[in-house]
Amino acid sequence: MSDLASLPISGKRTFLRCDLNVPIKKGEITDDGRIRASLPTINFLLQGGAGIVIGAHLGRPKGVASAELSLAPIAKRLSELLGRVVTFGPLTGAISAGEVHLLENLRFNNAETSKDAQERKGFAQELAQGVDNYVGDGFGAVHRKHASVFDLPELLPHAPGLLVSAEVEVLRKLTQSPAKPYGVLLGGSKVSDKLAVISNLLDKVDVMAIGGGMVFTFLAALGHEVGKSLLEVEMIDTVKELIAKANNLGVELLLPTDILVADAFAADSPAKVVAADQIPVEKIGLDIGPESAAKFAAAIEGCQTVFWNGPMGVFEFPRFAEGTRVVAQALTKVAGISVVGGGDSAAAVRALGFNNEDFGYISTGGGASLEYLEGKELPGLTALDIK
Ligand code: AMP
Repeated sequence: MSDLASLPISGKRTFLRCDLNVPIKKGEITDDGRIRASLPTINFLLQGGAGIVIGAHLGRPKGVASAELSLAPIAKRLSELLGRVVTFGPLTGAISAGEVHLLENLRFNNAETSKDAQERKGFAQELAQGVDNYVGDGFGAVHRKHASVFDLPELLPHAPGLLVSAEVEVLRKLTQSPAKPYGVLLGGSKVSDKLAVISNLLDKVDVMAIGGGMVFTFLAALGHEVGKSLLEVEMIDTVKELIAKANNLGVELLLPTDILVADAFAADSPAKVVAADQIPVEKIGLDIGPESAAKFAAAIEGCQTVFWNGPMGVFEFPRFAEGTRVVAQALTKVAGISVVGGGDSAAAVRALGFNNEDFGYISTGGGASLEYLEGKELPGLTALDIK
């Protein structure tokens, strides 16, 4: 694997692709984890004598500029965290050693995400103007074949940033002879998003625990009523096949035995615990129940390697955050490798009051880490010569 230390940076102008895609509400950054995760590489480059042009994206503007998806608040936060001026907007003059410049949301230009390779290359050529080399550190975007992620590194001497190298090192531990027992805990809203990772990891793990909104498709596949809970009807047959595959492989597929149900999808809805196979027709399941959370926690604590992606319930509503809190707590006790995968899961554990240091490793990239674990080739890693 190529590394940052072997890229000449002194006196050079570096284009640094970062993932600064942070949650913003009413102009305020609600979780700056991804900005913080980008600091080591920025500081490394500055100390090495480089001038830095940072390229990043926010949300999915689909080629249309808007104040809402401007990186302006991110430039401000980055400047505070670095303790130095960060200039922002179009690059007008040449950048000097020790200067940091953040470009506006790259996705305001349609060519950034275009499926047309020529269009992307054209944009990459524009971005390459006035810079000498490229450092890829936007782990959360490496699964995207985008101009700044895939095409630009081809045009310049390049290396992965410290964050990308650290992320890949951790993910390798989850795929190449992981220490056993190996447990995977999946939640979040959609089975369809996580199906490939479940399928690819099933023959590597000892325990696979499923919670969150996606669990109701599993319960439905077992023939249970799920009321008004989230359900992907078209996935039921596929889930039945997964359950059969887990049985054949002797993998323990841990499903909740109790569910915290509500009257409606609302923070203040009255809630009660019911058996997972007794969900009333008029109720909606918004969290795993306490018995299930305890079982999941016990299973996780006994593992040497754990990967977790997706909350166990609607943790944004405090009444339905307990399942997520209990499993997060269990994860902090894992003696071996524990990895929290995904921007949302990472923001969830921080919102629940945990610190990054409580966990073995918190990945900054949800989609990227899942695709890595699915065994897919990630364009942004290929472009950096990472196998
Ligand atoms: P994902 O992006 O797929 O990881 O999903 C994260 C989202 O799943 C969070 O916003 C949770 O509120 C949501 N979620 C978790 N459990 C449930 C549930 N039982 N019903 C509906 N949404 C859920």
